[in-house]
Amino acid sequence: MGAQTQNKKDVIIIGAGASGLLCAIECGKRGRSVLVLDHGERTGSKIRISGGGRSNFTNLNVTADHYFSNNLHFCKSALARFTPRDFLSLVEKHRIAYYEKEAGQIFCVKSSHDIIDMLEAECKNAGVETLLGCRVTDVKRDECFLVTTPGRVFSSMSLIIATGGLSYGKLGASGFGHDIARQFRIKVTQLRPALDPFVFAGEDQKVFKGLAGISLQAVVASGPKQFRGSILFTHRGLSGPAALQASLYWNPKEPLTIDLLPDTDVFEVFLSRRQSRMEMPNLLAQYLPRRFAQTWCDYQMIAKPLNETSDKELKELAQHLHAWKIIPKGVEGYETAEVTVGGVNTDELSSKTMEAKKVAGLYFIGEVVDVTGELGGYNLHWAWASGYAAGQYA
Ligand SMILES: Cc1cc2nc3c(=O)[nH]c(=O)nc-3n(C[C@H](O)[C@H](O)[C@H](O)COP(=O)(O)OP(=O)(O)OC[C@H]3O[C@@H](n4cnc5c(N)ncnc54)[C@H](O)[C@@H]3O)c2cc1C
Repeated sequence: MGAQTQNKKDVIIIGAGASGLLCAIECGKRGRSVLVLDHGERTGSKIRISGGGRSNFTNLNVTADHYFSNNLHFCKSALARFTPRDFLSLVEKHRIAYYEKEAGQIFCVKSSHDIIDMLEAECKNAGVETLLGCRVTDVKRDECFLVTTPGRVFSSMSLIIATGGLSYGKLGASGFGHDIARQFRIKVTQLRPALDPFVFAGEDQKVFKGLAGISLQAVVASGPKQFRGSILFTHRGLSGPAALQASLYWNPKEPLTIDLLPDTDVFEVFLSRRQSRMEMPNLLAQYLPRRFAQTWCDYQMIAKPLNETSDKELKELAQHLHAWKIIPKGVEGYETAEVTVGGVNTDELSSKTMEAKKVAGLYFIGEVVDVTGELGGYNLHWAWASGYAAGQYA
């Protein structure tokens, strides 16, 4: 915390998370005086817990196709100007060991603290000042922006809102950024939690809660997208990477379609055992976890041996296994969601600078904007890329 903080700055950034810190570094490197304010006691709280403590901080396959937004083109410009390679160069400069886990997902070998230390060191080099434990109570715009905190008012020509989304309130998430947008008559799209486990509706919850802890490989389709990977039954519903990804594209009240055996033609398997006296749960247990196979057959009311089951029944059962349709009650909510879908309407912002079209000098970056990435390092990469974009102009 700077002892002789000057109250007038070129740039004030509210939010010392991923996007705010990257933006602060870029503004500082351009010789701008920069103050970062955060009501939390530490910088980068979400970076710290990201990727299970190892931060999945980017993805080699970053393209706009991995993002959800009302305007799928908005993110393209910023993503093109700050690529995964750009962030990796920074990581390499700080000698941080990293590895590719799967599908381009890049993690720290040691700990997410490495990324926070790197950002703090870069902020220091760029002369950025940071005030933590500092709650912003009011923002006004006169000739410049006036930012009020308990006991102090700061002013700046540029104000950057980097306060993130609503998920994980215990880590300091707030709706502050959305409120500031509305205060300046900037539209905010509908918000909802995502990358979040599904909660089954009452009857399904009763049937499947006994399977809590069981995981299997599946393909989960939701809206226009489908995701292959593991799904995990929980006491309340369904989690695991493929289910979490599907939650990003899920419209409430619509079914999820799950292929429980994506690599096996189940009907072919049934036909090849057509004369067998084996009972269905025992046959399915050769392909699926036993407890799941039993519950599934109870649920479908199929207990007969194969040779006593009709072709029609076998066909239907195979179809259900390849296209299990289930309508979840919802997702768990902001306490467990990795991200918030929706945010500041991208029509209101310049895709080049992240500046509000209606309010000169006011910028929105990171998760507070209506750009949400899939699981796999895409959200942190959006935070870096949008922070970088604003950092060239603010
Ligand atoms: C459990 C979990 C794991 C995740 N893992 C990954 C991962 O591995 N890879 C990935 O790409 N993404 C991951 N994400 C998502 C990713 O962390 C976020 O999308 C990203 O951090 C958003 O960056 P941001 O700068 O927009 O906001 P944040 O990083 O959330 O920073 C916002 C900052 O603003 C501050 N703030 C909020 N309101 C105020 C206020 N009123 N006054 C002052 N300060 C305020 C907050 O304290 C916070 O420090 C994960 C998220 C969670 C919850």
